[in-house]
Amino acid sequence: ASMREDRIDRTKTVCTYCGVGCSFEVWSKDRDILKIQPQPDAPANGISTCVKGKFGWDFVNSEERLTTPLIRKDDTFVEATWDEALSLIAEKFLGIKEQHGVDALGFVASSKCTNEENYLFQKLARSVFQTNNVDNCSRYCQTPASAGLMRTVGIGGDSGTIKDIANAELVVVVGANPSESHPVLATRIKRANKLHDQKLIVADLRKNELAERADYHIHPNPGTDLVWISAVTKYMFDQGWDDSEFLKGRVNNVEEYKQSLEKFTLEYAEEITGISKDQLIEIATMIHEAKTTCILWAMGVTQHIGGTDTSTAIANLLLVTGNFGKEGTGAYPLRGHNNVQGASDFGTMPNYFPGYEPVENDEIRQRYEEAWQVELPKEPGLNNHQVVEAIDDGQVKGMYLFGEEMALVDSNINYVHGAFEKLDFFVVQDIFFSKTAQFADVVLPAAPSLEKEGTFTNTERRIQRFYKVFDPLGNCKPDWEIFQELANKCGADWHYESPAEVMDEAAKLAPAFAGVSYKRLEEWESLCWPVDENGKDYPLLYEESFGFPDGKARLFAVDWSEPYEAGEEYDLHLNNGRLLEQFHEGNMTRKSEGIMHKAPNPWLEVSHELAEERDIKTGSLVRLTSPYGKVKVRVLVTDRVKGNELYLPMNAIEEIQAVNKLTSSYHDKDTHTPNYKEMQVKMDVLEKD
Ligand code: SF4
Repeated sequence: ASMREDRIDRTKTVCTYCGVGCSFEVWSKDRDILKIQPQPDAPANGISTCVKGKFGWDFVNSEERLTTPLIRKDDTFVEATWDEALSLIAEKFLGIKEQHGVDALGFVASSKCTNEENYLFQKLARSVFQTNNVDNCSRYCQTPASAGLMRTVGIGGDSGTIKDIANAELVVVVGANPSESHPVLATRIKRANKLHDQKLIVADLRKNELAERADYHIHPNPGTDLVWISAVTKYMFDQGWDDSEFLKGRVNNVEEYKQSLEKFTLEYAEEITGISKDQLIEIATMIHEAKTTCILWAMGVTQHIGGTDTSTAIANLLLVTGNFGKEGTGAYPLRGHNNVQGASDFGTMPNYFPGYEPVENDEIRQRYEEAWQVELPKEPGLNNHQVVEAIDDGQVKGMYLFGEEMALVDSNINYVHGAFEKLDFFVVQDIFFSKTAQFADVVLPAAPSLEKEGTFTNTERRIQRFYKVFDPLGNCKPDWEIFQELANKCGADWHYESPAEVMDEAAKLAPAFAGVSYKRLEEWESLCWPVDENGKDYPLLYEESFGFPDGKARLFAVDWSEPYEAGEEYDLHLNNGRLLEQFHEGNMTRKSEGIMHKAPNPWLEVSHELAEERDIKTGSLVRLTSPYGKVKVRVLVTDRVKGNELYLPMNAIEEIQAVNKLTSSYHDKDTHTPNYKEMQVKMDVLEKD
C-alpha cells in the first residue's frame, strides 16, 4: 500500500439507520469519513446500500453534537462534570424511590443503541431501582406484530431472512413502504421480480413506489386490512385450498378458528374494505397458485386500534396455507430502527427479561436474582404509553430516557409535553440537544455507533458486530459506560471492561442467546437468534417446530375493530410515514448536507380530486387541524393518494410540522401502540400560491 493508503483506516460498521442492517466499511482518516465501502461479505446487503447508509454520516462530526454533561439551573443549562451530573442523578432517583416507591420511576430505552446497552439499561432499571417500568420504541411501531406472532407461531420476529423473501414465488406487502423505509430490502424484491418472476401484491392506501411496480395493488379503506385478510383466509378453506396436511400435523385450534371466520364472507369484506369480490378472489388465487408466499408488513398494519389482531390475521393466513418453515415462506414484520429488534430482544420491555422470558415467572426471575444478587420486581411494569399517563397523573415522578426523541415521535405530543413538564426529575441522554432534552433536568452526552463498539440485531434477527471508528467526541461516553457509572454511583458493583463482557452475561442468562459471543461474531460473521450453546443459529424458523412447548402453531381467532373516528367536522383522513432520504423525525439526517440538499422540507400529499375541490395546488400553504393540535404545511398534489386521503411524512422541522401534534392518544387495544394511522383532520387554506 502507498504511504497515503497507510493512513486510511478501514473499519467494519453496521448502519445506524434502518432495520435492514446493512454492514459496510468506513474508510476514515483522523476524524474524516472518506467513504463508505460496501463488501460482498455483508450478510444482509452484499454490495448494496441506500442513500442514508452511504451519505448520512455527517451528523457524527456535527458542531451541534453534545460534548459535555449539562445540568438545568432555572431556565438555562450549565456545563457540568460527569461526576456532578451522575451524583445528582443518583441522589434524585434514589430520593424518588425512597419517597414515592420504586414504580415512581420510568425508563425509556433506545432502539438506536446496542444490544449490550439495552441489556444494561434494563438491568439498571430492574436491579438498581427495582422497577419493571422499562420499554423501548417498538411500543410505537412493531410491538403489535410481535404480539400477533407470539399468539400464533410463538416467536416475535421475522420467520426467515431477506434471502428467503427474495426466494418466495409470491410476496405480499401490507401497509408498508419498503422502497423508502427499507430500501435495500426493496431492491431485493425488485430484483427477484426480474430474475425469477416473483409476483408481488401490495395493499396500501398510497401508491408508493413498490405499489407502482406490483402485479397487483389494492387500496383497502383505511383500517380494514383484517377484514380482507380474513375473507381471503375463509375463501381458502371454502375452496379446499387450505394446506390440510400441514394444519393436521403442525397446527392447533383449527376447527374453532375456522368457525370464527364465518362472518368474513366476500360480500362482507367488499362492503367494509372497498376491495371487490373479484379482487379478493384474485388475491386468494395468487396465494394458492404460488408454492411459497411471504407476507411483509409494517406500521400501516400495526398502528391501529386492532394492530395486534391484524398482525394475528396475517399469521393465520400463512398458517392456513402452510406458508411457514420452508425457504421462501413466512411472516416478516419489517423492523424500523437499526436495533429495534435487539432492544426488545435484550429485555427493555416491561414484561420480559432478555429473550422474551416473562418477568412473572418465578423460576426465570430467580435465575436473574441469583446472577444479579438482588430481589427483583415480580409484576410487569408500565409501558411507554402508560408511563406518560402515570406522569400526567402524578404517579411517576422521575424518568430516564436515552436515544429517543419522544417529544416528537410519541403520538399527541402536546399532551406528552404537558406530562414532561410535570416530572420532578428528567434525564435525557443523546448525541444532540434534542427537542426532548428541552424538558430535561440533566442532559448527558452520548457517543454514536461510530464512536463505540457493540452489536445490533436487524429485522432478520441477525446479530452483527460493529467496531469503533473514532474516539468519543469531547467528553461524550458510550451509553453502556454511562449506565455502569450510574449503577455504581447508586451502590452497585459493576465492572464490565467491554461490551463483549456484557454479551457474555446476557448469553449466560437468556437461553435464546446461549451461544452468542464476540468471537463468533468477528468481522462479517453473524448469528440469527435463537443461538444454541454450540453456536448453531436459526436463519429460518419453524422448520421442525413452532415456538410453543408442544412444537405446534396455534390459529388464533380475531375480530375487526372499527378505526377511531375524530368526528364529522374532521373530514379528511391523514396518513403518515417515512421518506427515503430522511430518517424518522430527522435528528441525524437533518444534519447531513447532502441529504438536506435533496429533501429539505416535508410536504403534504394531496390528491388531484381534493386539490381541485379546494382550489389549491403544489406549493399552497394549508393548516391541518385535529382535535389535538394544528400544523402548517405546504402541499404537493400527486396521484399517489386518492380522494380525501392525505399523507404527511413524519420528519419534522423542529416541531412546526410535526405530524404528532395531530395524532391522538388512542392505541392498539392489546399493546398500547398509538393508532398513528387512524387520524382525521380538517384543512384550511392559508395561501393558495
Ligand atoms: Fe442503512 Fe437501511 Fe439504507 Fe441499509 S437500507 S443502508 S440499513 S438505511
